[in-house]
Amino acid sequence: MKVKSFEDLIEEVHQKGICQQCGGCVSFCNSMEYEVIGYKEPNSPPEFINKENCLKCGICYHICPQTHVLDDDLNRTFNLLDFSSMPYGNICDLYSCQSVDYDFLRNGTDGGVVNALLNFMFEEKLIDGAIVAKTKAPFSREPFFAKNKEDLLSTSGLKLGISQQLDEVQRFHSYSSSLPKISSTKFKKLAVVGTPCQIYTIRCMQNLGIIPSHNIEFCLGLFCYENFEFDQRKVEQFDGVFDIKFEDIEKIKIKKDLIIQLKGDKTRESLIHIPFEDLKDYMRPACNACSDFTNIYADISFGGLGSPENYTTVITRTIKGRKLIAEALKRGTYINLEIDSSKEKHVKNLLLQYSISKIERKENFMKSKLRNLKEIKSTV
Ligand SMILES: Cc1cc2nc3c(=O)[nH]c(=O)nc-3n(C[C@H](O)[C@H](O)[C@H](O)COP(=O)(O)OP(=O)(O)OC[C@H]3O[C@@H](n4cnc5c(N)ncnc54)[C@H](O)[C@@H]3O)c2cc1C
Ligand code: SF4
Ligand code: SF4
Ligand code: SF4
Repeated sequence: MKVKSFEDLIEEVHQKGICQQCGGCVSFCNSMEYEVIGYKEPNSPPEFINKENCLKCGICYHICPQTHVLDDDLNRTFNLLDFSSMPYGNICDLYSCQSVDYDFLRNGTDGGVVNALLNFMFEEKLIDGAIVAKTKAPFSREPFFAKNKEDLLSTSGLKLGISQQLDEVQRFHSYSSSLPKISSTKFKKLAVVGTPCQIYTIRCMQNLGIIPSHNIEFCLGLFCYENFEFDQRKVEQFDGVFDIKFEDIEKIKIKKDLIIQLKGDKTRESLIHIPFEDLKDYMRPACNACSDFTNIYADISFGGLGSPENYTTVITRTIKGRKLIAEALKRGTYINLEIDSSKEKHVKNLLLQYSISKIERKENFMKSKLRNLKEIKSTV
């Protein structure tokens, strides 16, 4: 039987416009040091660089989040055999948490919990490095190795000044393809913060026991309904449609929708909420073909949905993730819990609603892709 390889990825994933640019294929292949594939253009799928060096080993195909070859294996490992009845994945514990450290809280997206937890892991020497994402330039975010608290704080950066308001927007619109970075690291114990498509790929690599996933100790997953792409034209369109100037934006969050806080507006009532349906023009097209909202294969998942202002919703999924959160909570100096923990049912309903909505969006998108393909074929 023919082993599917990068040529098949081009045909089945890239040409269909559903490459999520997670970087998994590049990450693995480059760890073999042949430079077979890589990125020729920013914000586009990887391409052959030295095609003649391709071993046709098929690993890139197997670990791609759009081929789903290893879904059954992963679902077994993560207790997700009955995936259809729990599209938000396996939940060990569900919390609303906040960073105790004011620096992380103030700079954090929601409760500053992800960075506070990474800081705890550094101090406890559970990890020696973390792959996160940092602003590179306007409209661009790049993967970044954090080694300590200062590094972590530098990734949260926001606040005043035009370029930093743009930074706030980039937090969500610009996809950071962190995985290729893993193959170049000398760190022995890593945590990776990633979107569901990235964490999926890492789990596939771990399932196959291949480098560079061997040194990843913790997968910290962010919820992700969609990622946005803005170029200058879209910025102007956004300004016009929503009557919001980018330079007036103080802060952006994503929970049930996109929440914008304008400079000088500090009250809850003055926040502007834009539903995801109204943001279709700014969404990365490949996100339409993605069904995981809550990052079901992470050790711990984090999102704003379901938590009050300045708190992060935290889902532990694995024994490792559970132990980590329990230990950090016990210390009392890293993260703490929201007092009212009686809303679990309500939060689960929200998670269910958004997870189902994302699954349905993917189904409709794939159906329309198939229809288009049939129409094109019938005309040739
Ligand atoms: C693209 C994107 C879409 C999201 N969509 C939703 C959503 O629809 N609903 C929802 O409830 N929550 C969503 N989230 C998660 C939410 O915005 C917060 O990231 C989460 O609640 C953690 O907040 P925190 O304050 O605890 O994290 P913080 O303490 O602020 O730490 C966040 C960490 O994530 C890293 N990071 C930021 N962006 C990326 C990235 N693109 N790739 C890898 N690492 C990154 C930062 O470097 C930092 O280390 C999304 C996040 C992202 C990045
Ligand atoms: S060498 Fe293997 S991993 Fe690299 S592109 Fe070829 S098939 Fe994919
Ligand atoms: S592994 Fe990621 S970057 Fe590579 S083809 Fe698949 S989605 Fe695209
Ligand atoms: S929706 Fe999020 S997880 Fe899915 S492809 Fe887009 S960025 Fe990746």
